[in-house]
Amino acid sequence: MKRIEALEVLNGLTAELAVVVTCAATSRELASVENRDNHFYVLDSMGLVGSITTGLALAAKDSDLPKVIGLEGDGSLLMNPNVLPTGGFLGAEKLFLVLLDNQVYGSTAGLPTYSSRVDLGKLAEAAGWTVGRAEDTAQLRDEFDRLLTTTGPTLLHVSIEAGNAADIPKLLVDPVVLAHRFQSWLTARLEPHTAV
Ligand SMILES: [Mg+2]
Repeated sequence: MKRIEALEVLNGLTAELAVVVTCAATSRELASVENRDNHFYVLDSMGLVGSITTGLALAAKDSDLPKVIGLEGDGSLLMNPNVLPTGGFLGAEKLFLVLLDNQVYGSTAGLPTYSSRVDLGKLAEAAGWTVGRAEDTAQLRDEFDRLLTTTGPTLLHVSIEAGNAADIPKLLVDPVVLAHRFQSWLTARLEPHTAV
């Protein structure tokens, strides 16, 4: 499964969910599939998707959102693996990371990451996360649906091929604009419902 194939599936499953997306090729490819208000592209902040998603998941605790989704890469998670014990320690009920693991730094010439020898799913399990795995689009769809109903920090470890999709334009929107757009989308969903 190529990254963009995984993103096409995930895009179809997350129209009504907050989605925090890791930098570089993953953000560009998702935006090329569909550029929506519920996408927060974390441009140039490698390693912070898990932290941001954790904070938003805690903030969404009493909302109608079933989970807050973070789309993370192996290289990026390895830059900030503290996300795993932090999520487990906090027991963040609505934290859901989808780890797109191609075992390389996809945006820097495909240099290998540690994930070929270090199982990031097992790291998450050791930290108290519920972990699912997917190696094709059917498994991705099924496991995403299943894990969306779990309570507590959750990781879907997705095996993807190395390599980036061709002819994907750069995402040159001002990050301030992207953040404001996402904030507006999310705020409306976190506000308490008022009786009509
Ligand atoms: Mg990678």
